[in-house]
Amino acid sequence: MNSKLIYLDNNATTPTDPRVVEAMLPYFSQFHGNAASRNHPFGWAAEKAVDNAREQIAKLIDVDSREIIFTSGATESDNLALKGVYEMYSRKGNHIITLKTEHKAVLDSCKKIEKMGGEVTYLDVEADGLVDLSKLENAIKENTILVSIMYANNETGVIQPMKEIGELCAKKGVLFMSDATQAIGKIPVHPKELGIHLMAFTGHKMYGPKGVGVLFVNRKNPRVKVTAQIDGGGHERGMRSGTLNVPGIVGMGKAAELAMLEMEEEAKRLSYLRDKLENAFSEQLEEIYINGSLENRMPHVTNISFKHVEGEGLMMTFNQNIGVSSGSACTSASLEPSYVLIALGLGDDLAHSSIRFSLGRFTTEEEIDITIKQVSAGVTHMRDLSPIWEMYKEGIDLDAVEWSEH
Ligand SMILES: *Cc1c(COP(=O)(O)O)cnc(C)c1O
Repeated sequence: MNSKLIYLDNNATTPTDPRVVEAMLPYFSQFHGNAASRNHPFGWAAEKAVDNAREQIAKLIDVDSREIIFTSGATESDNLALKGVYEMYSRKGNHIITLKTEHKAVLDSCKKIEKMGGEVTYLDVEADGLVDLSKLENAIKENTILVSIMYANNETGVIQPMKEIGELCAKKGVLFMSDATQAIGKIPVHPKELGIHLMAFTGHKMYGPKGVGVLFVNRKNPRVKVTAQIDGGGHERGMRSGTLNVPGIVGMGKAAELAMLEMEEEAKRLSYLRDKLENAFSEQLEEIYINGSLENRMPHVTNISFKHVEGEGLMMTFNQNIGVSSGSACTSASLEPSYVLIALGLGDDLAHSSIRFSLGRFTTEEEIDITIKQVSAGVTHMRDLSPIWEMYKEGIDLDAVEWSEH
């Protein structure tokens, strides 16, 4: 690969830390045992490695290691939490509350639950991306069994008021589930202090490997249970069958250990770089908008709309060497604006003009300086070519213009 490539798409996936790879390597061929083989040393070595990783991960989020269920990733953990609670607590009720800005793994699981006879409320968020607590309280009914609200949003980095939501759920006697994929390993996350009963996250967004994830399931006060969605063998205390991905689990454990040691310094460094990026764009360009709350957000992410510049087109001016994401999602026939940004109240045009920059452990200041130069030049270039920008500069009220069909 071109060594000049700059990766600013860490919310899509993080590179596996070389120290994680090193920890994993012996568990492919040397200690290749099945952690469920209880009767010989090969199995014992694998089981010991899994136990150790379980401890490392439990320590990171300050829970009991028996509350860690290994899965194939956050998508599976979200499915297991939502469908598993829906099935397990069907006698108590069938209503689930979530947000319109959740990840598809949550939203599509909820769609499936509706097909199975469940009832789901998809709450709006405010313009800053945050849930309104009184709207949430009003949505909780007699038959509500679960509130599922993500910790930090993948597109904007907005952090929800987890403690307040947890208190509300406790008061109302409903379970609280959170997809914490984007927060784990980046900021301190302690589900017990927040009243979170189920929490999903994944290895490959915290410098661990792909294909391994966790569902935290609270064991005491209340003792939470989920109905298994994959049957066969009863691994993971009956909640998730299947041979454990030992190298992956070892890697996720090592990633958790490293996060614990390094996250504080890393968050400081990345928020400095993120602010540098935002400040430079604000100084060099007009008409830019940072999407989502500026107070309650992750340190390493910024989602910026460059008004009257189409994001996908802008990316083409620099994506030979800079990897970022745009606020448009490719569906079969067309580019759809991001449903997350639409839920924040952005119009289609501002959503299509947005770019997400997500920094990570291996991002350098030099890379941010290059990004500032290239993106600013790209925006200026595209605006110079744009008749809409010219009209805007001439002071024409674009909202008053009657556009012909095209
Ligand atoms: C990436 C992501 C997922 C999916 O995780 P996988 O391990 O890739 O299945 C789920 N939720 C959020 C918020 C994510 O960012």
